[in-house]
Amino acid sequence: MTYELVIIGAGPAGLTAAIYASRARLRTLVIEKEPFGGSQIINTESVDNYPGLPGISGFDLAMKLRDHAQALGAEFVTDSVTAIGSEDDIKYISGEKGIYEAKTIIIATGARHRKLGAPGEEEFAGKGVSYCATCDGAFYKGRDVAVIGGGNVALEDALYLTKMCRKVYLVHRRDELRGEKINQEQLLAKENAEVLWSSVVSAIEGSDTVEGLRLRNVKTGEESFVPVSGVFVAVGILPNSESFIGTLEDDGGFIVTDAECRTGQPGIFAVGDVRNTPLRQVITACADGAVAVNAASAYLRTLG
Ligand code: NAP
Repeated sequence: MTYELVIIGAGPAGLTAAIYASRARLRTLVIEKEPFGGSQIINTESVDNYPGLPGISGFDLAMKLRDHAQALGAEFVTDSVTAIGSEDDIKYISGEKGIYEAKTIIIATGARHRKLGAPGEEEFAGKGVSYCATCDGAFYKGRDVAVIGGGNVALEDALYLTKMCRKVYLVHRRDELRGEKINQEQLLAKENAEVLWSSVVSAIEGSDTVEGLRLRNVKTGEESFVPVSGVFVAVGILPNSESFIGTLEDDGGFIVTDAECRTGQPGIFAVGDVRNTPLRQVITACADGAVAVNAASAYLRTLG
């Protein structure tokens, strides 16, 4: 069967595209890598900037989006997409379980955590090094931890950890934070949080588990050791675009699109964190999903 639209990915961008496509009565299939999981939002404790739903948990928002799409009739399949291609007006989506045919594709595969690349990071992964504060924070109740990074994720992770940890260090390589001002204010107001400015991690050290961080101040060159039991790495994201690189133009791995989420290939669109967008928020991901379905519908009309 040839779908009118195949959406690859079921985070906020893909699920919103599924809602709009279902309302447009497009024969739509959503391919998700893991059932109900994988998207960054699932591991976000609280989404404080989605209009009208202040403080909603990332999990609850994701489930609401999914329920909405399913209630409208969107079809879901679990598969891992390895490549896409096209012949005439038909697109082919190759997954590990099968090949799917569609007239249009929306890529909504999102992004994943970037690694820090410091000595000890691999060795202590799961033994004190984590990439998800909401998943692993509870293991460090009453203990001292560090969060690495200065973006929104680092600030939100650090804030979350202040609720259960004795002390939370935020280690940032510059003397100015990148994340939103409101997140900065909230963290700096916490008595058990301390920012270690202009500091980079030379090594994560320990024996069986993490015992501390070796830091270097980039301004003074001074070396220090900060004893912590947990290190939460939050140094940015990498796009989940490997299956499309070569077929589609990218900029540092982020798929290049125009304002209507069109890639250079007619009938193929990219939305949310995987595309080269100036702002990566839940609301912009959702907006992309709506815009892309509108553009896909216009493209389908040209096919007659
Ligand atoms: P991000 O905004 O790119 O921030 C990454 C941080 O890690 C930056 O502070 C960066 O330092 C630092 N960094 C990068 N490489 C490093 C290295 N090798 N060593 C040390 N530090 C390093 O990434 P993010 O916080 O993961 O957020 C991803 C996207 O999601 C962003 O667009 C963000 O705004 C968005 N987001 C938004 C919200 C929200 O609105 N509430 C919540 C979560 C995420 P520099 O500052 O020096 O570059």
